[in-house]
Amino acid sequence: MALMTQEQYYQSLADLRPTAYILGEKVATPYEHPLIKHMVAGVAQTYALTQEPEGREYLVAKSSQTGEEVSRFIKFYESREDLLAKVRMLKFLAQRIGTCFMRCTGMDAINAVGIETYNCDQKYGTDYHQRFLNFIRHIQKHDLAIFSGVTDVKGDRSLRPSQQKDPDAYVHIVAKNDDGIIVRGAKIHQTGSLCAHWGLIVPTREMQEQDRDYAVCFAIPVDAEGVVHVYGRGTLEARELEGCDLGNIAYGKFATMVLFKDVFVPWEQVFLCGEYEFAGPMVRNFGNFHRHSHGGCKCGMGDVIIGAAALAAEYNGLPKVSHINNKLAEMLKTTEAIYGCSIAASVEAQPTPSGIYTVDPVLSNTSKLYEGKELHEVVRMMIEIAGGLVADFPSEKDMANPEIGPLLQKYLKGAEDVSTEDRLRLYRLIERLAFESRDIVSNIHGAGSPETHRLTILRHADIDSKKQLAKRLAGIKT
Ligand SMILES: Cc1cc2nc3c(=O)[nH]c(=O)nc-3n(C[C@H](O)[C@H](O)[C@H](O)COP(=O)(O)OP(=O)(O)OC[C@H]3O[C@@H](n4cnc5c(N)ncnc54)[C@H](O)[C@@H]3O)c2cc1C
Repeated sequence: MALMTQEQYYQSLADLRPTAYILGEKVATPYEHPLIKHMVAGVAQTYALTQEPEGREYLVAKSSQTGEEVSRFIKFYESREDLLAKVRMLKFLAQRIGTCFMRCTGMDAINAVGIETYNCDQKYGTDYHQRFLNFIRHIQKHDLAIFSGVTDVKGDRSLRPSQQKDPDAYVHIVAKNDDGIIVRGAKIHQTGSLCAHWGLIVPTREMQEQDRDYAVCFAIPVDAEGVVHVYGRGTLEARELEGCDLGNIAYGKFATMVLFKDVFVPWEQVFLCGEYEFAGPMVRNFGNFHRHSHGGCKCGMGDVIIGAAALAAEYNGLPKVSHINNKLAEMLKTTEAIYGCSIAASVEAQPTPSGIYTVDPVLSNTSKLYEGKELHEVVRMMIEIAGGLVADFPSEKDMANPEIGPLLQKYLKGAEDVSTEDRLRLYRLIERLAFESRDIVSNIHGAGSPETHRLTILRHADIDSKKQLAKRLAGIKT
């Protein structure tokens, strides 16, 4: 099978048996749960669109590993064009889905890991890269989805992994034998882990010699024994449980904590095991790739936000007001700058010895830094344009109540040619775009916290050479 259909994707989830807890309950078929199914629907779109002409243009490419067509979500970045295509694909999908569709974390992780398994083999004569290529061929052959397990729970942030009072604060190796390793710990904020078939687990930070047992990278099926997914609650989920007021009618986002309760990992799925000096580069590659991804998807999300704001003005009878148009232009300025930096980071990409291209880190981190601060201003302007109704309009259930519904219909009408129902649907979407915690907080902390982006920019920007520029122009000779 080269490319799964949407139906085959749903069937593949039905065949899995992950251990999952959602709001205190153990759930047998999490992919059907009301709090999960909307993100599954978004991931399903990434399969469905590979079967359509427009979607194929964005999502499908030829694999150098199998020689067959594969989804770009499980392909290596082997050229600048691949990186450009990725950013454009993510923008295209975000415009259609209006929230997260999970698969970019796995895509970025496979590329980050592929670079360092190659480098590690060069230094130590290990065979991680070949193992990893075998794993990727399996994933491509069956068109599987991967979540990336990077972020550890981390305990006391001032201490290294090996210094923590609780040694399990970072995922680590607790035993090794002839067949494989046993790992323990927990990864947190695991976007859509219950929409995936496999997890690719990557160290969350640089490691030193004393952290050797924490320098571990491996792949694990989502339903492996000892892997437990715990749903992380969000702000607007009560509505999904009540079956009303969804905002985005088809799609949603969730993230889980994934616990590793002494999980056995066979050697063929282990891609780093104690070679601590490769942990830092691996996670830095991931961060740079993932910030680059955000530039595509958050621009697409921004387009939805801008469209919703423009519609709100229209539905309120203010279609051609100059101060609103000025705000729309400001919003576009931000979203296009976020996108532009990711496009530029692709153009300036460089090949690594593995053959995988790495993005320009200054530009990809600039995109993410801009997103973390300025995308909130875009959301704020959407709320400013839409008005206070975003905060507290009556529920769909009140609208349907025969005693008060007709009165609410009358009083909540805006422009004459727009139905009250359409106006409220739009405001539900705006509320979702403005306040859904997973989307909003991911603008700041997704792909690492803003300070990490600043540090990465500084590390690569060569401030000393810029000082020389200033000195030369000022005639300073020392
Ligand atoms: C919606 C969402 C989705 C996500 N999806 C994924 C995913 O799919 N996979 C994944 O692996 N991760 C995911 N993440 C995790 C994300 O990468 C982390 O949230 C991010 O790296 C920050 O880590 P943290 O949340 O533990 O915050 P912390 O690391 O606790 O940071 C909090 C603050 O403390 C500062 N800080 C931390 N340590 C230090 C220190 N030693 N010295 C000085 N300052 C410090 C930081 O700069 C920051 O300002 C997601 C996060 C969100 C919000």
